[in-house]
This record gives sequence, C-alpha cells and structure tokens, in this order.
Amino acid sequence: MAVQTVASSTDISLGPAVALSCRECGERFPLGPVFACEMCFGPLEIAYDLPTGDPEGLRKRIEAGPNSIWRYAPLLPVPADVADKPNMNPGFTRLVKADRLARELGVTGGLYVKDDSGNPTHSFKDRVVAIAVEAARAFGFTTLSCSSTGNLAGAVGAAAARAGLRSCVFIPHDLEQGKVVMAAVYGGDLVGIEGTYDDVNRFCSELIGDPAGEGWGFVNVNLRPYYAEGSKTLAYEICEQLGWRLPDQLVVPIASGSQLTKIDKGLRELIELGLVEDRPYRIFGAQAEGCSPVSRAFKEGHDVVRPVRPDTIAKSLAIGNPADGPYVLDIARRTGGAVEDVDDARIVEAIKLLARTEGVFAETAGGVTVGVTKKLIEDGVLDPSLTTVVLNTGDGLKTLDAVAPTTGPSAIIRPNLDSFREAGLA
Ligand SMILES: *Cc1c(COP(=O)(O)O)cnc(C)c1O
Repeated sequence: MAVQTVASSTDISLGPAVALSCRECGERFPLGPVFACEMCFGPLEIAYDLPTGDPEGLRKRIEAGPNSIWRYAPLLPVPADVADKPNMNPGFTRLVKADRLARELGVTGGLYVKDDSGNPTHSFKDRVVAIAVEAARAFGFTTLSCSSTGNLAGAVGAAAARAGLRSCVFIPHDLEQGKVVMAAVYGGDLVGIEGTYDDVNRFCSELIGDPAGEGWGFVNVNLRPYYAEGSKTLAYEICEQLGWRLPDQLVVPIASGSQLTKIDKGLRELIELGLVEDRPYRIFGAQAEGCSPVSRAFKEGHDVVRPVRPDTIAKSLAIGNPADGPYVLDIARRTGGAVEDVDDARIVEAIKLLARTEGVFAETAGGVTVGVTKKLIEDGVLDPSLTTVVLNTGDGLKTLDAVAPTTGPSAIIRPNLDSFREAGLA
C-alpha cells in the first residue's frame, strides 16, 4: 500500500522488531507506516527477533525494569532507551484478587480483576498509544491522530502533549461528556463527526490518502501494527503478577478485537520464550448486546463477522465492523473459549456488582466483561474451579451517565440528628 514514508526504512530501529509480516499470506515488508499487505490486502503485524535462549536472564532483566510497560521493552517494537524519553509510562496496573466478587459469582479457582483504570488517562489505551508514539517518532510524523470511540482520543491527546507533537483526533460527536472533555483538555484538536465510529474510521482512511493528512501518524490506522503490540503487555503483566504463570481463563472485551488478539499473541510469546510453563488457557470475548457482531458469529458458527449498527451504553466497545473479528473467532475456538454478550441493564448491574464487592469502579466496558463472566458461569461455559482473570479496561468516572440514573445518595437530610434518625440509616 502506497503510504508516504517520512523516514527511510533503513534508518528505522525499533528494538527486536525486524519486519512487518502479513497475517494472511506471510509476505514480509520493511518496517514502515503501512498496515495492509501489497499482495493480498491482509493486515500486517510485527515480526520479531526475540531474545530466546536465556529465559532466566530475561526474567531477571524484566523484573529489574521500570514499573511500567517499558519493563517489557525487549519484547516490544520500541528503541532500547524508550524509558528515558518523555512519555506517559503506562502499565504495570494492579491485578486485584477479587475474593468477594468470586464468592458472589461462585468462582472457587481464584478470580482476579486486571484494573487498567489506573493508567495515565484512565484506560487501557495508554498502552497501545505509547508504542505508536515511538513508531511515529521513528517515522518522523509530526501530527498524531486517530479514529476513536473515546478513550483512544484522550490517550493520544495526552501522549502527543507529553511528546511535544501536534494532535488532531476524531470521534463520533455523541460520546459521553467525560470522554469528550478528556480528549480535548490536552490542547490538541478534537473533531466530532456526525456518524458512528465506523464512519469516523472510514473518514480517517480517506484522510490518510489525501494531502490534508500528509505527515500524520494515525495510531490505529497507518501505525496500527505498532499500536496493536501494546496490548501484549496486558498478557505479560497478568502472567508476571500471577508469579510467571498462565491464567486458565481470561475474559477480554472486544471493540475491534485487537486487544484480545494481541493478548493471545503475548501469552504465546511467553511460552515460546520459556518465561511461563506451557499449559492450556482459554480466552473468552465479551461484547455488549447492542453491538455484538462477533458474539453472533461465534454462536452461529460463522467465520465471517457481519457488521452491525451499534446501539449500546458501552460506547468504548461500539465498533460495528470489527477489523480483528475473524481472528477473535479463531482464538476463542482454538483455546476452547467463547464469545458472549450482555444487554445494557446487565452492564449497569455488573458495574455496581464490581464496585460493591471490590471497590473497583469500572467504565461500561468493565461492566461488559464482569457481566459476561457472570453469564458464562451461569450457563456453565466458564469453569468456576479454574483461575480466571477479568479485564477492566477503563475508569467509571468517564461513563458516569451509565450509572447516574440509578445511583445516588441514600437520603438527603437536614443537618440534625432527628432528621438523620427519620431517614432510617442509623
Ligand atoms: C479500545 C477499548 C477496548 C478494546 O479495543 P480493541 O479495539 O478490541 O482492541 C477495550 N476497552 C476499552 C475501555 C477501550 O477503550
């Protein structure tokens, strides 16, 4: 695909990354800001020369690294000195042992919530953007851009501000106020588009081919192969935090499906590198019923994902035509997992369940994963006797609208004891 390359590919040095390779036909291309195969139009991903042969040494090196995704720099397409540059240093978020939630759900094998609300802009997107920024720097881009369902726009705005790059990001015009404000506050340009995320994404693809988008790095379009690798760090962290052990089951949200696909890639790399013992794991995908094209395809036994028009409160997951949908189906089937969905009422219920049992306030995407986990247990699909990790990928403060109508003060009283007694809370 003819996309303008600002720096020539021979100058490019991104750690262990050696090439781009087509996920469909395997054809290889030099590292550059391209995302589709010239031969078959399949998506490109990073091919590595990973540090094999000394797992103990690699493990020690990682453990001695910074408390951020950069501890895994030897496994990422980033320069070796990445931790020294001005950037957001996301990752190494907490893995919460969720014993009270486990009791409510009947999980006996150990239940954990990987809480990515603790990232710098309060969603998992800081991970993927951090990697894309390094690629943008390497390719000489001066403007950082994206099509976003909300969280990505904020992560790009913040990362660009910190790196001293211009940003111009695109979102559907009708997002939650928390997402819009967070996308705008870092001082870059924010453009609301009258349409769905899929319209926004199509528009960005047009912009890349136009002189108006020249010199722009779209983190999830022309920098997508680099961006996508950031999700591997979730797999690395979960295993390291479990004591260098694979979980038996993971429940992962699906928007484009990239995160789920790369978590699987990250787990397989840890096995290949000898950092964890090779044993079976199952990956479950979670969608909102109002945008469940992958779940539907899974249940109907299809290999192709039929696009839908999203209508759900889980706006961060509202991608009607998910690019990685077919790969998600492959992974769910290969690992013995499943893809399931829950309606908006169950999403809200699950947000409150997680908050009430564990003190973790998730955004709607976290309501989707917790709600799907509950449903999968009720349906006998997820095995409650196995170690299970559920992802919360964003902060509830960004989606207050979802819970505000059914959450508030227990009472409003006058400032005296009689009034308090009358309220029946003593
Ligand atoms: C973007 C996003 C995801 C996952 O997106 P993919 O496109 O599937 O990688 C999950 N949760 C939240 C909160 C997000 O913003």
